[in-house]
Amino acid sequence: MNVLNLTDIRTSLVRGLFLNGDWSASSAGVTRVIHCPADGTRVADVTEGTAADARAAVASARQAFDDGTWPGLPEIERGQVLLRVADLLGRDKAAYARAEALDTGKRYIEAEYDIQDVISCFRYYGGLAGTDSGRVIDTGQPDAISKVVHAPVGVCALITPWNYPLLQASWKVAPALLAGNTFVLKPSELTPSTSILLMETLREAGVPAGAANLVTGPGPDVGAVLSSDPGVDLVSFTGGLATGKLIMAAAAATVKRVALELGGKNPNIVFADADRESAIDNALTAIFLHSGQVCSAGARLIVQDSIHDDFVAELARRAKDIRLGGPFDDDAETGPLISSGHRDKVHAYVQTGVTEGARLLCGGFIPDAGSLAAGSFYPPTILDGCHAGMRVVAEESFGPVLTVETFSTEQEAVRLANDTSYGLAGAVWTENASRAQRVARDLRHGTVWINDYHPYVPQAEWGGFGQSGNGRELGLAGLAEYRETKHIWQNINPGPSHWFGPSTAGAQQ
Ligand code: NAD
Repeated sequence: MNVLNLTDIRTSLVRGLFLNGDWSASSAGVTRVIHCPADGTRVADVTEGTAADARAAVASARQAFDDGTWPGLPEIERGQVLLRVADLLGRDKAAYARAEALDTGKRYIEAEYDIQDVISCFRYYGGLAGTDSGRVIDTGQPDAISKVVHAPVGVCALITPWNYPLLQASWKVAPALLAGNTFVLKPSELTPSTSILLMETLREAGVPAGAANLVTGPGPDVGAVLSSDPGVDLVSFTGGLATGKLIMAAAAATVKRVALELGGKNPNIVFADADRESAIDNALTAIFLHSGQVCSAGARLIVQDSIHDDFVAELARRAKDIRLGGPFDDDAETGPLISSGHRDKVHAYVQTGVTEGARLLCGGFIPDAGSLAAGSFYPPTILDGCHAGMRVVAEESFGPVLTVETFSTEQEAVRLANDTSYGLAGAVWTENASRAQRVARDLRHGTVWINDYHPYVPQAEWGGFGQSGNGRELGLAGLAEYRETKHIWQNINPGPSHWFGPSTAGAQQ
C-alpha cells in the first residue's frame, strides 16, 4: 500500500489545484507560503488558485456531473468508496495529523482527534448508503405508480474555514459524494494542506476524475466565483457571519441552494446546584479548547449569583495555569491563534470590553518574550461583570476570551442565554433533571448540552438558529442538504381523460 509520507505531502502541496482528476498549475503562476502560527516556520508552498482556476474547476465538476459517471453509480457503490476513503485516512492518519497541526498550530494530539473524527464522518455516510431510497405513495389507483426519490443537487461549491480544516471539509464532502454530487472544494487560504491531501485519498479510493475538484486561493476571488458561477447548484459554506452574508447575496442571482454554518456566541449556564468540579473543569474546556477558535466555544459563562465569586475565582486561577505551546511541545495544553492579525483582533475585543466596564481577571496581553513571542499566542482571558450590551459579549471574537454574566432565577438565565443574534450551541449545568430539561427546551440554540460541553457525533445534526446559519450538517439532515426530492408518477394503463375533449364540435362535423 502506498502510505502518504512527508515527501508525498510536499509534492502534492506544491501542485495545489486538482481539476479533472489531476493536479494542475495556477493560471497566474502564483504560490502562497503557509507558515505555522506557533513559530512562523515555513510549512509549505502552495499553488494559489485564481478566479479563472475556480471557473475551470466548476467546469470540470459540471462536466463530470453531466456525464453521469458518479451520479449514475448505485448509491451502495458510492458508499463503498466512502468506506474506502475512511480506511485510507486511517492508514495515513499520522501524515494528515501532522499537516493539520503544522497549518493550524494546534497540538498534534488534537489534530489526531480531528482526523479520527473525519474518518468517523466518512464511515457514517458510507454506512448510510442504500438505507433510504425514497417512498412509494399509495395513490388509491391501481394503474398509477407514484414514488418520491432522491436525486443529487448537482455541482456543489464547498467553502471551508481554518479552525478545523479537514473536519469541516469532511462534513460536506462525505454527504455530497454519497448523494451523487460532484464538487469543488475551496479550503481556507491559511490551512489548505489536508484538503490538498484529501484529493489524493479520494482518487486512490476510486472517486472518478472531475467528481472531486479543489481550488486553493483567497475568498474574495476564488470563493466569490464559486458562490456566483451559474454552473454551481449549491454552496455550502462554513465560516464567519460577514462572509456568509456575502455568499448568500452572491448565490441569490442564480437561486442556488445555500447552506451556511456561521459563528456562535454560546452560553454556558451554571446553576448553584451543579457539580462544582465538573462545571469548573468543563467551563475551561468549553472556552479554551483550541484557544477559543471553535464555533461552539462556550464564550459566555452565565453563572448563578450565589456561587459567582467562588466559581469565577477558581476558574481564573486555573486559566492562568494553562500552558501554551506549539504542536509538538509535550507540555503545551493549547496552541496559538491562527495568525498575528487574528490575535490582534481578539486583543482589541478584550480592550474594548475593559473600556466598556468589564473587569479583567486574567490574560488580556500579547506575550512578547520567550518562545511564545515568535508565534501568535494569546493567553486565556476572563472578563467579569459583563452584559449582553457589550461588544465583547455580543460579537464573536473567536479567541480564548470568556465573558462572565450573572443571574438569579431560571427565567433570567434563559433570557440572558437567548439574548444573542446567534444560536449555535449552549450548555446548562444543574443537578435538577427537570430544570435541565426545561432550560434545554427553552434555549434557542442548535445544540444543547446538559452537564457536558463539546461532544458531538456524526449521526446527530449540527447547525444553528438565528444568524448562526441555515441548514444542518451531519446526521440525516446533513445528507438531505445534498439531495433534491423528485416525485415520479407513472400511469401504467394510459387513456384519454376527456377533460377537454373529444370536443362536441368535432362530433357534429
Ligand atoms: P471566513 O469567513 O473568513 O472564511 C471562511 C472561508 O470563506 C475561507 O475559505 C475564505 O477564503 C472564504 N471566503 C472569504 N471571503 C469570501 C467571499 N467573499 N466569498 C466566498 N468565500 C469567501 O471564516 P474563517 O475566519 O476562516 O473561520 C472562522 C469562522 O468560521 C468563525 O466565525 C467560526 O465561528 C466559523 N465556523 C463555524 C462553524 C460552524 O459549524 N457553525 C464551524 C467552524 C467555523
